[in-house]
Amino acid sequence: MQALTNRIKQVDRSPMTFLERIYLWNIIKGMFITFMHMFKKKPTIRFPEQKREFSPVFRGLHVLNRDEEGRERCTACGLCAVACPAEAITMEGAERLQNEEHLYREEKYAAKYEINMLRCIFCGLCEEACPKDAIYLSETFAPSNFTRKGFIYGKPDLLIPNVKTEVGEFAKAKGM
Ligand code: SF4
Ligand code: SF4
Repeated sequence: MQALTNRIKQVDRSPMTFLERIYLWNIIKGMFITFMHMFKKKPTIRFPEQKREFSPVFRGLHVLNRDEEGRERCTACGLCAVACPAEAITMEGAERLQNEEHLYREEKYAAKYEINMLRCIFCGLCEEACPKDAIYLSETFAPSNFTRKGFIYGKPDLLIPNVKTEVGEFAKAKGM
């Protein structure tokens, strides 16, 4: 028979020796391998006390960004939702009122902005599509939850704290 690969191995059908028949040698061999693993570096870590370093290209939980004056950058243009291959983003736009210039940078803003984290594949296309630098993927991941509803992140979950009015929370969110 012609072999397709060089990995073919003939089955040894010769009668078993005495040592092989009592299986003792194989048990000792197995225990020796287990024993040697006790001295090897453990690949597991004690999460959540210990955390692994993320890769520099890791894409985690989304953050809705503000400008340097603390105003929301998102103008509800919908480009991120159109770019999203998982159809995970939904939003509702609203017109900025005269006394709201300090809250929203553009004349239109997202009154409602939601991302379904169960749909999201963390591809980062929403971040690339955004012309206002209003959304980016951070280095944290979405915490676990017991309900599906808990994975639908609204504006309060996504919006970064205000650099002017929530200094402590902003620094914490930025990891400073
Ligand atoms: S990261 Fe990708 S899948 Fe997730 S919301 Fe953005 S575009 Fe959609
Ligand atoms: S996050 Fe960016 S792309 Fe998405 S609606 Fe807001 S401004 Fe537009």
